[in-house]
Amino acid sequence: MSGDRNGSPDSVKQRLNGNQTDAFDILGHELRLSIVETLGARQRANAWKPVPMEFEEIRRAVESDDSGRFNYHLGELLGTYVEQTDDGYVLSPAGFEVSSAVLRGSYADVSIGSIEGQLDDDCPNCGADLTGVYEGGLLRIICPEHGVVFGNTVPPAVAVDRDIDGITTAAERDVRRAVEQARDGICPECFGTVDMTVPAAGARGDEFTPEDSDDEPVLAEFECPRCRLAFETELHWVVLDHPAVVAFYYDHDIDTRPRHHIEVDSVSSAIVSNEPLRVRLTFQADDDQLDVTLDDQGTVVETERS
Ligand SMILES: [Zn+2]
Ligand SMILES: [Zn+2]
Repeated sequence: MSGDRNGSPDSVKQRLNGNQTDAFDILGHELRLSIVETLGARQRANAWKPVPMEFEEIRRAVESDDSGRFNYHLGELLGTYVEQTDDGYVLSPAGFEVSSAVLRGSYADVSIGSIEGQLDDDCPNCGADLTGVYEGGLLRIICPEHGVVFGNTVPPAVAVDRDIDGITTAAERDVRRAVEQARDGICPECFGTVDMTVPAAGARGDEFTPEDSDDEPVLAEFECPRCRLAFETELHWVVLDHPAVVAFYYDHDIDTRPRHHIEVDSVSSAIVSNEPLRVRLTFQADDDQLDVTLDDQGTVVETERS
């Protein structure tokens, strides 16, 4: 079968890699963004279903008195961000994505100042009280001894009606979602296909012996060839939602769902075999332990409680 028929992976790739500057230029007008926001609000209010709005209804919503001018700008959006149906106008999927990004404040020149405060969490390295600082779209969690122990960008809308604890929860939730999504092969940035390597190439070497991994935690490495996203994470984040892990902690009255980036301190990891590659994660709770063995694809091949 030829690779260039419509919708084939190759043709999708070609079109996505094409020049998108024009599409961004179209949005460079306040009234056009207002139209997209108006249609987006209607769609969200209807459980994401595109419900058409008529010309006059949109014009009133965006408070445009000049019908000709409004018609011109609506026309400019057609085909890219807005589609015309028999019953009126709806957003294209791209238009809906833009309306969501605007809501998150991702594109805005938002100056909300700095929000900071002491967090309930202690530094995983030294136990000192941690401080959270959110500024310019970036959350940093800071230890007085160790400096920044965690950092993640979160859109400015996160700061609406939230204090530093709420912002931290949202940022950490976002990181965990990103890791689990990448683990499932979906790029959290561009939705391209992510490759996972266990252990991370830097640690892999030729003659990795089990003793080497006694001190350093085993890392998983993620890479998206499409958008070049590359990051590493401690391996246990890859299995934190595995039923065996969830059940083990649950039996010890620990709910793993809200557990976040800097909190899991009772886990160790080690490479236990090279051929085939096997990594063992050991989780501890009270006097019990759970061993989870993974292969080089990050797939759980064995679990054992003792
Ligand atoms: Zn510290
Ligand atoms: Zn990507």
